[in-house]
Amino acid sequence: MEYRIHKKTGDKISILGLGTSYIADTPEKDAVEALIYAHENGINYADLATAGARTFGYYGTAFASVRKEMFYQVHFGANYETGEYGWTTKLETIKRQIDWMLTELKTDYIDYGFIHCLDAASDWQAYQKHGVLDYLLDMKQAGAVRHIGLSSHTPALARHALDTGLIDQLMFSINAAYDYQHGDYANGSASERMALYRRCEAEGVGISVMKPFSGGQLLDANTSPFGQALTQYQCIQYALDKPGVLTVLPGIRDLADVKQLLGFLTASPEERDYSILGTFTPKDVTGTCVYCNHCQPCPAGLNVGLINKYYDLAASGDTMAADHYGKLEKKASACVSCGHCDKRCPFHVAQSERMKEIAAYFGM
Ligand code: SF4
Ligand code: SF4
Repeated sequence: MEYRIHKKTGDKISILGLGTSYIADTPEKDAVEALIYAHENGINYADLATAGARTFGYYGTAFASVRKEMFYQVHFGANYETGEYGWTTKLETIKRQIDWMLTELKTDYIDYGFIHCLDAASDWQAYQKHGVLDYLLDMKQAGAVRHIGLSSHTPALARHALDTGLIDQLMFSINAAYDYQHGDYANGSASERMALYRRCEAEGVGISVMKPFSGGQLLDANTSPFGQALTQYQCIQYALDKPGVLTVLPGIRDLADVKQLLGFLTASPEERDYSILGTFTPKDVTGTCVYCNHCQPCPAGLNVGLINKYYDLAASGDTMAADHYGKLEKKASACVSCGHCDKRCPFHVAQSERMKEIAAYFGM
């Protein structure tokens, strides 16, 4: 397993995590077996906005004995009183639900207590007016919640919540369909969405990725907005290349799904390569580096994707990015303008020119 360190919390988080979606429909024995297998193979992060109440008991059974090795995202606002997923901003219901979830999970603390699913300004107002935010902050004060998170599909709302300075972790829907303005949750322009990811990286807010396959749409040529299916591994790599992203959380239902997910770790660069997306890039981001490294190998030995990522982050206010850049063995100034990357880039980035700009910016 590969891990990424959360800049604010220091947590060491596996790049592959568990979305729980429909695991509640799986018989308990099979679900618990799948979860244990995930943990044994290094997965340590799980989201608990699940479709059904039974999921919590499954997690309690699978992970009670290794609780400290797992990180849970628990949502203040998800309501399972009917046995199925529901959504509420009523404080008393949320309190009852959090008590119940902790009991089912066989734990007395939450790693990331989430403000659940904010997509409209009125949701955020209701959340505060009803005292839910205060309740979450009180639990943090008492040590029962370690860090605060937010789940949203909407860049404008996410920005608004980030402005409070309270948020450590953002759960956001990242995939090529939404980023390129296709689908129900394609909120915000491509450049607005990318600016949000960069802001998270710059401020040390981690991103956990929900809906990496756009609810499965991207995996089927008949439903993909690009008329062409992508693979799970292309979608996961796409999300992992975005600034701020720590972990991707595809929904798993059973052992076969977990094994399929873990296959990403041994997939070849060709299997992960999503450069086909260059054909579909919207106008407002064509010519923007997406850090995919499809243009490798660079004859001068430059890591083109990483150099570009550090540059964009530094330019958007990430104070650590210049340091990271300074530690690279080969800097933009080593570019020999051979033009190989210009020809190879499916996203139409004039990279050899950009390397001059980057070298001038950092002075090396
Ligand atoms: S220049 Fe193009 S191919 Fe190279 S990392 Fe950037 S987007 Fe990818
Ligand atoms: S133009 Fe520069 S960065 Fe691009 S491949 Fe050639 S040497 Fe590498």
